[in-house]
Amino acid sequence: MVIAAASIIGFAGIPLYFDYSRRLLVRVASIGPIPTFINRLQRYGIPKNDAECMKDLKTLDVDFKEQVSFSEPLGCKVEYGVRLARAGNISISNAPLLTCRMATELAEFEQGKLQSTAKRILGSEIKRINHIGTYNCRSMRQYKGIISQHGYANAIDVSGFVLKDGRAISVAKDWKGNGKKARFLKAVASSACQAFRVSVSPDGDANHWNHLHWDMGIYRSCR
Ligand SMILES: [Zn+2]
Repeated sequence: MVIAAASIIGFAGIPLYFDYSRRLLVRVASIGPIPTFINRLQRYGIPKNDAECMKDLKTLDVDFKEQVSFSEPLGCKVEYGVRLARAGNISISNAPLLTCRMATELAEFEQGKLQSTAKRILGSEIKRINHIGTYNCRSMRQYKGIISQHGYANAIDVSGFVLKDGRAISVAKDWKGNGKKARFLKAVASSACQAFRVSVSPDGDANHWNHLHWDMGIYRSCR
């Protein structure tokens, strides 16, 4: 079955590594027992989480605690995980569990593009990111059997932000409309497409009406 799946992907002339399209992955995923193969591919395709990544993370202006590696029977696995509490002047509510790579990208994004966008559009810095989850051992919503990037702690669902001046921005309430908060959220979602492998906004699909999903999985998607 593994050989069959590989030849299907190879036949379409699409490389097996990072940049093949989401649509192809989804089409292949719908064929019989292929989810097992896709999950294996996912694990190997995720950008490296290793001692080197930990060393790099420690050079950033962040607070985090290292987590012991673990796995679950469904196939979820977290290696080189951390609990990230702060990046620069931004705290992250509940210091969520993230892969080292996701934590690094998030910290760099926060201190770079996120803060500058907040200052430019809203005239204040961000002081906190609110989220509704990072690690969650489950399948992708649309494709049962394929483990979500949340099953590797390689994703975050951002529900809103709190500014230094006290204002709160909520994806659920503020995404729609033409006000400054909506403009800010759309600018953030768009620049997140460069910072992460996947950035999904409420415009992407109905499941994301109340959050921005960012992950460091194996394919790129910006929607
Ligand atoms: Zn998500």
